[in-house]
Amino acid sequence: MTPTDLSPTPPQAEGLSGGCQCGAVRYRAGSLGRASICHCRMCQKAFGAFFGPLVTAHDLVWTRGHPKHFASSNKVRRGFCADCGTPLTYDWGGDVEIAIGSLDDPELAAPVIQVNPADRLSFFARLHELPVREPSHNAGVAAFMAGIESRQHPDHDTETWPPEGR
Ligand SMILES: [Zn+2]
Ligand SMILES: [Zn+2]
Repeated sequence: MTPTDLSPTPPQAEGLSGGCQCGAVRYRAGSLGRASICHCRMCQKAFGAFFGPLVTAHDLVWTRGHPKHFASSNKVRRGFCADCGTPLTYDWGGDVEIAIGSLDDPELAAPVIQVNPADRLSFFARLHELPVREPSHNAGVAAFMAGIESRQHPDHDTETWPPEGR
């Protein structure tokens, strides 16, 4: 359990909410569409990751702040938090897609398709075969993890953020 799990239950816990890591930008979606992972080189770069995990968000509203945008091409702009850099949206002119990991509950958007396979990284298919290191396997790692005090916004809406005194 992390410290953020101890936060009080918010008044508006229902719905499809999410936001950036620092909490400056928060959103709510009416419903989610198709979830995908995109292997294109632009998604790799924009997410700083092996692929871009995205899900269509219908009736998306910004409930705190707004993303900043970078036009990654003549057809697409990508939204991110200007304060903490979290990738948030893929905006191609139709229904905006949101980064699955930014949802308060990413389990709601299990990917159902891979797109742009031409740029798929060679090691992608073997990621699940990697050996797993539990924190308990290394005393130094366990101590480091135990000493972490999260400043990440909790996985629910908050009345005020950051907490007073921070
Ligand atoms: Zn942020
Ligand atoms: Zn892509």
